[in-house]
Amino acid sequence: MRFFDAHADDPWVLEKYADGQADVRKQAILTMKRLLYTKFEADVAAGKYDGIDLDALPVDEPMGAETDPDVVDRNEATLRTVAIKTVPLTMPRADVDALFRDLPGLIYVTLSEPRLPAQQDRDRAQPHLPAGMGLGGRTGWAVFDSTASAEAAIAHLKEQADTKANETVTQLAFAIQSPMPAKYRTTAWDMFSHPDRLATDLETVKGIATTLDTEAGLAGAQALLEKYADEAPKVHLDVLVTYLRRVHLYCYYSAGCETESLEELAWKCGDKVFRKPGAGDPAGDRAAALLAKFDTKVRQKFDESLRPAKAIDELVDAALGQYVAKEQEHRYRCEFPACGKLFKDTQFVIKHIKNKHAADVAPLITSITERATRLNNFLGDPHHLHPAGMNPTQFTGPFRPPRAAVAAAARPSMMPRNGGSSSYGRERRDSRGEYMDFGGRDEPRGAPRSAAMDPRGLKSYMDLDAPGEGDVVLDYD
Ligand SMILES: [Zn+2]
Repeated sequence: MRFFDAHADDPWVLEKYADGQADVRKQAILTMKRLLYTKFEADVAAGKYDGIDLDALPVDEPMGAETDPDVVDRNEATLRTVAIKTVPLTMPRADVDALFRDLPGLIYVTLSEPRLPAQQDRDRAQPHLPAGMGLGGRTGWAVFDSTASAEAAIAHLKEQADTKANETVTQLAFAIQSPMPAKYRTTAWDMFSHPDRLATDLETVKGIATTLDTEAGLAGAQALLEKYADEAPKVHLDVLVTYLRRVHLYCYYSAGCETESLEELAWKCGDKVFRKPGAGDPAGDRAAALLAKFDTKVRQKFDESLRPAKAIDELVDAALGQYVAKEQEHRYRCEFPACGKLFKDTQFVIKHIKNKHAADVAPLITSITERATRLNNFLGDPHHLHPAGMNPTQFTGPFRPPRAAVAAAARPSMMPRNGGSSSYGRERRDSRGEYMDFGGRDEPRGAPRSAAMDPRGLKSYMDLDAPGEGDVVLDYD
């Protein structure tokens, strides 16, 4: 609540959770899914759904990462994407859209949620907010049809900034980023590898894919199940989990985390989530409790009765309490001028106000109702942004600048890359899960290897806030 109160009127909250604006965003996401579906049809034909195996976690080397379609396609798109660094929290999406709307070759513009800075940086990020409530800016991505279009866009925006032709553009910075190594994670628990759980997940994922397909007017799940009809059930599961990510921007193994673009998905959930190898027993007490939490989180999107919500009537009544004065026990007065009627309890005054002063309080009731609806939409989103630590059970895994990256940034930027395969497959753990990271945390941006990966020698920059650098963690609690 305190976090919501601190950000209730931020554009990112209004755009995602206020009725009306949220509908616009939902429509935009459906449009995005249909765009991704055209790629899906080409991908299926090109065999990019063949041989998907979410148990095949690369351990010693980034096996297959160089040919992994998710990584290859992301890096291809990166080269024709203008990354918009640190969109201020006060800047509405419409302002960013307006900057890019008419630029030649634009395919779409999309924004991330705000970054959640490390605890010690939050108060510096937004000093005017209560302690620990501060957020970092959003990241934007403007995807173009070619590198040339993206470079032309940057040149145009730079010119606008230089001539101060546009107020918005002077607050933003733009760059085309270098391709990034694969960023893989595992699920938090090996229980997901148990045969019983695989069967359960397949049924769940079939239902989700079908529901989301229907909502968007697509038929990918059906097409995949037909194409791979002769394969084992686990293949069906892995193909559908992958389809949900690539088309519906939905990461099942991140407990149903959803984003509005592939860029934001890679930023939040990495390039791929593998099942943790092993044979955990999902029937144990603790495992069952954790899996039940996971399942509830997944189901909340599809079942309104599972979403927490505040009673709007109670919030309205509480707000109307400002017109009630208690004079003594059993004497409560209506404070409207020229009224002053007495009642024996608050609830009767409030009922009276709603009846007799309806016109006077209508704007207040409308405003309280709108805000409460926004709050309920926020609370009902199981992946809503939430400062970890304030309520760890709500934590999903937003961006935190990783300590290792900060340390790397402090070192000379031309330091040679740490050599050999030992830099691959490093596994990081924290209290909220674990993931595999081939991202070369020890390698600063702009170091020789990055340059070598970018044959066109495009501009790259070192930026701890850059998209794709998020210290993504996974949590099912
Ligand atoms: Zn009255």
